[in-house]
Amino acid sequence: MKIIMLGAPGAGKGTQAEMISEKYNLPHISTGDIFRANIKNGTELGKEAKGYMDKGLLVPDELTVRILLDRVAKEDCKNGYILDGFPRNIPQAEVLDAELNKLGDKIDAAIDIEVPDESIIKRMIGRRACVSCGATYHLENVPPKKEGICDKCGDKLILRDDDREETVKNRLNVYHEQTQPLIDFYQRKGVLKSLDGTKDMMDVFQEITEILA
Ligand code: ADP
Ligand code: AMP
Repeated sequence: MKIIMLGAPGAGKGTQAEMISEKYNLPHISTGDIFRANIKNGTELGKEAKGYMDKGLLVPDELTVRILLDRVAKEDCKNGYILDGFPRNIPQAEVLDAELNKLGDKIDAAIDIEVPDESIIKRMIGRRACVSCGATYHLENVPPKKEGICDKCGDKLILRDDDREETVKNRLNVYHEQTQPLIDFYQRKGVLKSLDGTKDMMDVFQEITEILA
């Protein structure tokens, strides 16, 4: 099963992708997490990506597409995967489509999590992310058991550099201009499933499991 998570930054894609990954035993592939791991490890890719990420801009397709295609070619993806944060514009979606076509394959579901912009700002400012494993929490909605510490791996939780209010506004503009057109793209392919992401995260997950059943 090959699944794409769509939705604005902060809509809950990563939160849901993590739960889908556990239930269906599929790898959760987040291009944002791959970039953050590269930044943490001080790689050339990380240095280049950081400049764009800190401004709330998309990292250029030349860098992003190759990384994604290399990742989905790995052995653990042979039964499928969940893409979180890719594709983020039409050219990325077209490349993915063409690569899958070559393999006689296709995306099974594009799950669009809908959350209005007003709620997004609150979610992003309250989001805390683990520096090691990428797990996300929210100060009010999804607090960790112990303040500032990841439940899953015990490492530190931080406010991401790009989750500050000004950057979030830029990211939302980029989303509306470049990423939202993917909703029509996947609708035309007949795989779009939209759901209300303002509900409790377990209710959202329940709906996703019904969609995937
Ligand atoms: P995305 O991956 O789409 O950027 P996240 O999954 O990181 O978004 O979620 C953004 C923030 O909102 C996180 O702090 C997360 O804990 C919180 N969150 C996720 N789903 C919900 C929900 N259904 N209700 C309230 N808060 C949520
Ligand atoms: P995310 O963790 O998905 O919110 O992504 C954080 C940032 O990483 C984005 O704001 C972009 O700068 C960059 N990024 C992640 N995925 C992509 C992508 N598919 N294309 C371009 N940039 C991306």
